[in-house]
Amino acid sequence: MTTIFIVGAVLAGLALGSFANVLIYRVPQGLSIVRPPSACPRCGHEIRARHNVPVLGWIWLKGRCADCSAPISPRYPLVEFAMGATFGIVTWLTGPGANTVVLLTLVFYGLVLAAIDLETRRLPNPLTAAFAITLAVVVLATAVATGDWSDALRSVIGAVALGLLYGIAFVAYPKGMGFGDVKLAPSLGAVLGFLGWPQLIVGAFAAFIWGAVAGVIAMRRARKSRGVAIPFGPWMVVGALTGVVVGVPVATWYLDVVLVQ
Ligand SMILES: [Zn+2]
Repeated sequence: MTTIFIVGAVLAGLALGSFANVLIYRVPQGLSIVRPPSACPRCGHEIRARHNVPVLGWIWLKGRCADCSAPISPRYPLVEFAMGATFGIVTWLTGPGANTVVLLTLVFYGLVLAAIDLETRRLPNPLTAAFAITLAVVVLATAVATGDWSDALRSVIGAVALGLLYGIAFVAYPKGMGFGDVKLAPSLGAVLGFLGWPQLIVGAFAAFIWGAVAGVIAMRRARKSRGVAIPFGPWMVVGALTGVVVGVPVATWYLDVVLVQ
C-alpha cells in the first residue's frame, strides 16, 4: 500500500468527518444539509473557511467561537479525528478494493448514526435509507464489475437475516429496541455478509453482547435493577466492527477448538 493512498484516505476521512458533523447537527432537526453555511448557534456569525479546517480549526480557536467566544463542543474535532484515523487504518489494512469501500461506508454512516442515537435516541430515516442505498450501489457495482456475484449474494442474505432478527426482536420485546434499530440492521447485515460468513455471524452476536454489557453498566450507575433504556444503535455499530475485526479468528477458534473437542 503506497503512502500517498493512505494519506489521501485520511484527508478524505477528515473532510467527510466535517460533513458528518453537519449531518449529526442538522438531520435530527430536519434542517437542510446544504444551506445555510455553518454558523455559530449563539451569535449566528458564519464560520470562516480557515476555522473550518478539520480538527486544526477547533484547536486554533481553543474550542471557542471566533466572534462571541461561545464554547464549541469537542464532539466536532473528535468526529473529524475519528473519521480521518479510521479511514486511514482501514485503507492501510485492506488496500484498494471493494471491501475497503464497503468498510468505509460502514465507518461513515456508523459514526454519524451512533452519534445521533447517543444524543437524540433516534436513527433518522433519511440516514438509515441513505446507508442502505449507498451499500446497494457499491455491492451491485462490484458484482457487475467483477462478474462475481457470490459476495453480493452473501450481502443480500446478511441484510435479510439481520433485518428478520431485529424485526422479530422488536415484535417480541418492543421496549428493548426502537424501530430505527430494525431499519439499521439490514445495512449492517449487508456489510458483514459482503465480507464473509464468519464476520456476519460474529458481528450479529457481538452487538447483543456489547448491548447487554452496556445495559448492565447503565443499570449499575443508575442503581436500578431494570428499566434503564440505553440507545442500542451505537452497540449495533460496535458489534458490526467487532465482527469485521475478529470474525475470522473467532470462527476459526470455534471450529477448531470447541467443535473438535
Ligand atoms: Zn459565536
